[in-house]
Amino acid sequence: MSAPRAVVLLSGGLDSATCLAIARDQGFETYALSVAYGQRHAAELNAAKRVVSALGAREHRLAHVDLGQFGGSALTDANIDVPTDGLQTGIPVTYVPARNTVMLSLALGWAEVLGANDIFVGVNAVDYSGYPDCRPEFIAAFEAMANLATKVGVEGNRLRIHAPLIELSKAQIVQLGTSLGVDYGLTVSCYKATDDGLACGQCDACRLRSAGFAAAGLADPTPYIRLADIPHDVQTR
Ligand code: ZN
Repeated sequence: MSAPRAVVLLSGGLDSATCLAIARDQGFETYALSVAYGQRHAAELNAAKRVVSALGAREHRLAHVDLGQFGGSALTDANIDVPTDGLQTGIPVTYVPARNTVMLSLALGWAEVLGANDIFVGVNAVDYSGYPDCRPEFIAAFEAMANLATKVGVEGNRLRIHAPLIELSKAQIVQLGTSLGVDYGLTVSCYKATDDGLACGQCDACRLRSAGFAAAGLADPTPYIRLADIPHDVQTR
């Protein structure tokens, strides 16, 4: 019997790269899906290609959905600055309205065509930025919706949304990924990375990522713009 298929959402960041490694480790034939959603920098999508080259996937697709036409987020709207002065409280301006709903919907569409009953998404509810669409309640609700919304679901082939990182700390994630052979030097988490993939060292994503490597006792392989930009302070303001 051939391996079951899974669609893995792959942004090119630390979490989604770990997720791809987990899906492969669990024996799935992986179909990686990256989404150009109108993000301000191309570094993440370049990183996604590098991650697929390194870890392997049966196929890698890039879907285009322009959430930038609506703006409303520091990640899609050039008029909103990415905060760089410490972790934000509440739901920060880097939240992209409906992003995970849109991405999971695209993954669901491809999964149904592939005959895949499993979708992996690297959302994380511990060391995260406070996004509502990274919570376990959201994943459970999306899974319920997916089984109502699709032919395969109605015909009794249950679709599963896997969020294997959801209860892990950033340190646990990098330890797990390292044990599965993930090269985090290939990934880009920074909200304002250069097109070459250099990280700013100051945004929430850089701070959470750096603190994760430190807590795990692992060297941080992130290429930063300047050495002086390596974050030291991860305190909430
Ligand atoms: Zn950054």
